[in-house]
Amino acid sequence: MAGPTRSGTPDRLCAEAVELARDAAAEAARPQPIGDYLGAVAEGDRIVTHYFGSRDPGYPSWRWSVTVARAARARYVTVDEVALTPGPDSLLAPDWVPWSERLRPGDLGPGDLLPAEADDARLESGVLAEAPGEEVDEEEPAAGRGVLTDVANELGLGRPRVLSWVGLQDAADRWEERFGPETPMAQAAPANCASCGFLLPMAGQLRQAFGVCANEYSPADGQVVSLSFGCGAHSEAAEVPKPQRPAPPVIDHLGADPL
Ligand code: SF4
Repeated sequence: MAGPTRSGTPDRLCAEAVELARDAAAEAARPQPIGDYLGAVAEGDRIVTHYFGSRDPGYPSWRWSVTVARAARARYVTVDEVALTPGPDSLLAPDWVPWSERLRPGDLGPGDLLPAEADDARLESGVLAEAPGEEVDEEEPAAGRGVLTDVANELGLGRPRVLSWVGLQDAADRWEERFGPETPMAQAAPANCASCGFLLPMAGQLRQAFGVCANEYSPADGQVVSLSFGCGAHSEAAEVPKPQRPAPPVIDHLGADPL
């Protein structure tokens, strides 16, 4: 392994403290032994780092770095820091990936923020305008305002961005994968969700293909399900027939007298 190459004249007492540095490295590396002494470099005035090879099988070509120092006019050298550091030929982790590219669905915790990027393909521009319901004259019946507001919300009025076609397709694909017609549960179901009393209809562009299951006994309770999904808890599933009680035994009184 190539030795350290940093230039500079190391402090004599610090450079001579090889055994002090070796003991510190051996202590930190335990239970693995440390390798050969690789040299020293001056980090600054009266600060020197000594290097020892690593014999840890998980860190090939890494090295133990022990930084020692002494105060001005002091004769005693002390250990400042011990660390396992990569050498020029060390096996290193891949380049750092931004956190936003490392997240997976389900990683978001309470208090975390994950704003969508400005060019997120799942979103497209909405219509920034006041919902018509808010502009309606006070004399207009409240029921009418509610209908207008519902229509405005569904159209995306008042929201800066709404789901794009890509976002809709992505959502539909995910939901179909979890609760779609191809799942084993749906294949074994007596009927599909479209005819189930526990299905809550959805609003929006996907309402003709999806709804929400509201049956606590279903594995899809509270989830968006494809209308072609189904499970054994379907509201109209055939009742399981009760087992018939066996008939009482018939005793043949002709062949034997009862005791
Ligand atoms: S109970 Fe089963 S069949 Fe009914 S809506 Fe829920 S998932 Fe669909």
